[in-house]
Amino acid sequence: SPITSSNIFYIGAARTDVTGPVVQVNMMGYAHPEQVANGLHTRLYSRAFVVADKELNTRVAFVSFDGGMTSQLIKLQVVKKLQEKHGDMFSERNVVISGTHTHSGPAGFFQFLLFEITSLGHVEQSTTAFVDGITESIELANSRLELGKIRIGSGLVNEGNINRSPTSYLLNPESERARYTHDTEQEITVLGFETLSGDPVGMLSWYPVHPTSMNFTNLLINSDNKGRASTLFEKMMRKPGETLGGQETPGLSIHVFSARLYKYILNNTIEHIQSLPNISKFIQHLVETNCTKISSFFAFFESFVAAFAQANLGDVSPRTKGPICFDTGLECEPLSSTCNGRSQNCTGFGPGKDMFDSTDIIARRQLDAAKGVYENNCNLSATEVLDGPVSWVHQYVDMTSQSIKLDDGTTANTCKPGMGYSFAAGCTDGAGAFDFVQGMTRGTAFWNTIRDTLAKFICTVEPPKEYYDCHKPKPVLLPTGYMDIPYEWHPTTVDIQLLRIGQLVIAAVPGEYTTMAGRRLKEKIHMEAISQGMGENTKVVLAGLTNVYTHYITTPEEYVAQIYEAASTIFGPHTFQVYQEKFSDLVFPLVSGNKDDVDLGPSPELKQANQSRIAPLPGPDKVPAGVNFGDIIDDVNATYSTDDVVVVKFHAANPRHDMKLGSTYLEVERLVGRAWKTVYTDADWSTKFSWEEKNSIAPPVESYVTIEWDIPVDEASGTYRIVYHGDYMDVDGSITPFTGTTSEFDVA
Ligand code: ZN
Repeated sequence: SPITSSNIFYIGAARTDVTGPVVQVNMMGYAHPEQVANGLHTRLYSRAFVVADKELNTRVAFVSFDGGMTSQLIKLQVVKKLQEKHGDMFSERNVVISGTHTHSGPAGFFQFLLFEITSLGHVEQSTTAFVDGITESIELANSRLELGKIRIGSGLVNEGNINRSPTSYLLNPESERARYTHDTEQEITVLGFETLSGDPVGMLSWYPVHPTSMNFTNLLINSDNKGRASTLFEKMMRKPGETLGGQETPGLSIHVFSARLYKYILNNTIEHIQSLPNISKFIQHLVETNCTKISSFFAFFESFVAAFAQANLGDVSPRTKGPICFDTGLECEPLSSTCNGRSQNCTGFGPGKDMFDSTDIIARRQLDAAKGVYENNCNLSATEVLDGPVSWVHQYVDMTSQSIKLDDGTTANTCKPGMGYSFAAGCTDGAGAFDFVQGMTRGTAFWNTIRDTLAKFICTVEPPKEYYDCHKPKPVLLPTGYMDIPYEWHPTTVDIQLLRIGQLVIAAVPGEYTTMAGRRLKEKIHMEAISQGMGENTKVVLAGLTNVYTHYITTPEEYVAQIYEAASTIFGPHTFQVYQEKFSDLVFPLVSGNKDDVDLGPSPELKQANQSRIAPLPGPDKVPAGVNFGDIIDDVNATYSTDDVVVVKFHAANPRHDMKLGSTYLEVERLVGRAWKTVYTDADWSTKFSWEEKNSIAPPVESYVTIEWDIPVDEASGTYRIVYHGDYMDVDGSITPFTGTTSEFDVA
């Protein structure tokens, strides 16, 4: 397609490591108190895309990061940090932060209590890793802005998801359902970013599927199917020999890689770099002169960024074999998702032989579809480029006090937040506790008594009858809108936000829309955009889990049956209609540029002072007498075959003393000539890092690290060893790094 002034944008993309604490922290998603991380399978990343018009008048930032969701605390803190350095270039109005919704990331990054019950309150390390890493990824992407083009296309993902609440979906009007082939969206929308000189910059896609391929028995920090797809795509696109954490089988030596980087930063000559005495001094020099952190040092290198962002995944499961009773092998009762009346034994399965395999399969199905579209996008004749202005619009809305005119002429209101009984039942991706089942439209005397008794202690004002009526037919189990002791349990103010890049509109929604709710919202925005003057080729995508978390949003029809997602639609039966109207109202200022007319709404507070913090913190470490940190407990065998698993164990220390951002807790090294070269790190799929502490009454604590390397079938034969990087804390609080190294072994 010919290049015109309006189909050229400033584009920049960047990826940073946001892996937080990997042990002693509850995982965000399943809300199981026992799901406390004890190690690391894959690192978590923030992937940022900044787009500005050719005149640099308007810019927008879209971030997809490997976290459970974006919290209000994360968004407000990221914006605050950006503004401290960049003034009004960024604000909450032109920045969208979307969580991939991995259920295997750390918890504890909220300013509302309900989300931090199972994490035992606020976890400073989780919050810092997310806030700093997301901020850094936006800054890096912004620093790399270059003129380029953005291509758009879509394709179908083959068996990448199923509907986990199909009986709920069936409540939507038949005429509406008849317009769609499936009860989930199978389409993946893909953007390809390329500089004017043809350098690939990044890929950003949206496709709905829960990252619940890893189930609640998993205790290793993991980016699930979305993160796996991203790293596989990035590996596919890496420059020759590029070696970065998270990539598998690096090629170029660190010398050549660093030389390229050095050249990039200082615009210096290769001869000068080669004249440097050794690589560590060289890196030290770089750090001293340019970067304060090693992670930014690595991130500065321009590598391809591939994000698999989240969409309307509310009722969408990756467990494509569907739910069965795991005790009997029979089908679950379809309406309540129970086996023998209880939800705990009914769970979704597949498609793989175990959860790691399932994660990989669902990742590769997304990867294949995105790759197909992306490669087709590179074919200039068969492509569509984004063409038009860059724009954004944003409004804060207090969701507790909205009213709306219904089709029958009556007026309906939103409610103060509340969770229904069936929220506590969980869903087939992860069941809840006690005797709750899905589809409960009536409470029980037993739980209502507990609820009302608790309310006396945790609500300044006890919820009135009108509040419970407002939520009907949802029986409220947790009246969170009134729960404010020791502080608020739920947000009340949400972000309504749209970004526009050419003919693409991105709707940033604060939670998990179900399939049909998402379709309706996109269609409404699409119609409104065209009526406001955008072209027939207008595309609308829905970005899920952005800005502030408010659980689920179902259609009003789905709300009636009170399946899990409906029970978790917190502002009551008319939540969706209010969102639809609010988003629709913002299309006019988005298209016309008439932002001055937008009522900006009530800004939420950044609350930090009164957070509960009772989760354990890392303390001093110790080793038995005569033993050093890093000494081997279980060493390697002399020889392994490919497809064997190497398992080694070390005397260790708490890994939280250093989160190793942009770095690694372990290296698998191969002997090349006389030098050891890193071939895998803790970010790689084939390695697992786990930590256990010996029971002790008081610190210091003795602990052990186990490293597994699942040797890939195509691994080159040769001599290998495994290195563990730890940091121990002394009783005086000082922290000292150490390493442990296994004996050499052969892979035959
Ligand atoms: Zn979810």
